[in-house]
Amino acid sequence: SEERSLNFLEQIIEEDIAKGIHGGRVHTRFPPEPNGYLHIGHAKSICLNFGLAKKYNGLTNLRFDDTNPITEDTEYVDSIKADIRWLGFEWAEEHYASDYFEQLYEFAVALIKKGLAYVDDSTPEEIAAMKGTPTEPGKESPYRSRSVEENLQLFENMRNGMYKDGERVLRAKIDMAAPNMHLRDPLMYRIKHAHHHRTGDKWCIYPMYDFAHGQSDSIEHITHSICTLEFVPHRPLYDWFIDKLEIFPSHQYEFARLSLNYTVTSKRKLKQLVSDGIVRGWDDPRMPTLSALRRRGYTPASIRAFCERVGVQKRDNIIEVGLLEYFIREELNRTANRVMAVLDPVRLVITNYPADRVEALQAENNPEDASAGHRTVPFSNTLYIEREDFMENPPKKFFRLAPGQMVRLKYAYIIKCDSVEKDADGNITTIYCSYLPESRSGGDASGISVKGTIHWVSAAHAATAEVRLYDRLFKVEDPGNEEGDFKSYINPDSLQVVSNAYIEPALASAKTGDRFQFLRKGYFCVDPDTTTGKLVFNRTVTLKDTWAK
Ligand code: ATP
Ligand code: MG
Ligand code: MG
Repeated sequence: SEERSLNFLEQIIEEDIAKGIHGGRVHTRFPPEPNGYLHIGHAKSICLNFGLAKKYNGLTNLRFDDTNPITEDTEYVDSIKADIRWLGFEWAEEHYASDYFEQLYEFAVALIKKGLAYVDDSTPEEIAAMKGTPTEPGKESPYRSRSVEENLQLFENMRNGMYKDGERVLRAKIDMAAPNMHLRDPLMYRIKHAHHHRTGDKWCIYPMYDFAHGQSDSIEHITHSICTLEFVPHRPLYDWFIDKLEIFPSHQYEFARLSLNYTVTSKRKLKQLVSDGIVRGWDDPRMPTLSALRRRGYTPASIRAFCERVGVQKRDNIIEVGLLEYFIREELNRTANRVMAVLDPVRLVITNYPADRVEALQAENNPEDASAGHRTVPFSNTLYIEREDFMENPPKKFFRLAPGQMVRLKYAYIIKCDSVEKDADGNITTIYCSYLPESRSGGDASGISVKGTIHWVSAAHAATAEVRLYDRLFKVEDPGNEEGDFKSYINPDSLQVVSNAYIEPALASAKTGDRFQFLRKGYFCVDPDTTTGKLVFNRTVTLKDTWAK
């Protein structure tokens, strides 16, 4: 990999190691909430957390941040684990914040005993009203001066299910006049009579993110807890809890979220696209989820390379999806075998080529990789070519096929168009050509040079396939920040299905996940919808950046 200077997190870690902090140990964690599938933004966080640990001989935990019973599900737990492994990372320990519920409860009791937490009977509306504004201090709750004994009893009652949802909360007793709103007696626990995907009905009180996250980091002796910028104002609270509890001093560091243009990276929004049927599922190849990118043909290495190139920023910005495409195109150019597929076919007959003759032509699998070898492609007098490769009245510099004009058929011969046949509506049904027998590729003795080369398949030998072509899912660069419903910015043409493409017969045995370059058409990957009778391909990416402005 290329040389680059240290990013700010590497600098911090190297300084910590040099100072011998935590004995020079580096232990990170990736803490997804199991309420959706991982997306490209999570990939950035995964590459960062696992990458830093690897670089400094440390460890990374996978911790499910499952403190909200309402939205979480084991389906998501399983997909998250599969996606992390697919990206190429293995965690040291697997944890669930819910496994710490008892310990977190005891931490809360310890803070009550220190006079640093209290049960508040105010309604959520009253609490909000007392919070103040960034320029005005808040008001202290009338329940703030309760005795330790009363708080202990009430908190236990909360746990024992004596109150309804929202009737009481546990709050940290910090400072209602703090300039940082997060320090104005933040909530630690709320009552929620809800079934949890792991703890079942054992609990009816659940810790808030701010009370669960730092303490979980501390329990696991995480040294560098890396999160996104929106948590900067939470950091004083993160430190406050750890300090008052006198537990292992994990530290939080923040970097900019990864955002991609023409898509959304918010699980809540992605979930809406799925539940509203706008896409076929979390792994619809138009989605920015890892399962969708995998299905579309992206490799783990291309995503890791993208994340490395994006780097670690301290200011939010939007990355062009073209950069992600660059990395997969780059890799597939090196690794994908070339094949011929005709997506919009028109029949072409070579009138001077014997009707009963079939030649097995030698075709190079990958000009970028000599070890990829050769295959044979059957050639005959009746072919399919791409409709757009013929023009009856071509402009100057149209180097493909036109009446009286010559072109080379890839791996085969030079042909010349003699005439065309049309149906009643004027659509061309057959193009008639003659070929130059001495012009065969690899042994061309015709002395003629043509400017254009086109792909083709032999009609009698071709297999058929469904080919799915994708465009951006949204019409605007930053749909999440437009006025109104983000779903109103959906690109109605994001999927184009070619139900009857013709492909080389050699492709008929392709397996789900196999990747190819369809000459002149882009890179394609076999979709899991493929059945024995029917191949389905997804276009991963075009050959060139046709989306460039
Ligand atoms: P979402 O808004 O998609 O729900 P989240 O941050 O709530 O995102 P989590 O499951 O909590 O989702 O994320 C797990 C980890 O991945 C967190 O540490 C979070 O900071 C990080 N992460 C999430 N989205 C991004 C992103 N777009 N770029 C970088 N890191 C991200
Ligand atoms: Mg989160
Ligand atoms: Mg979230």
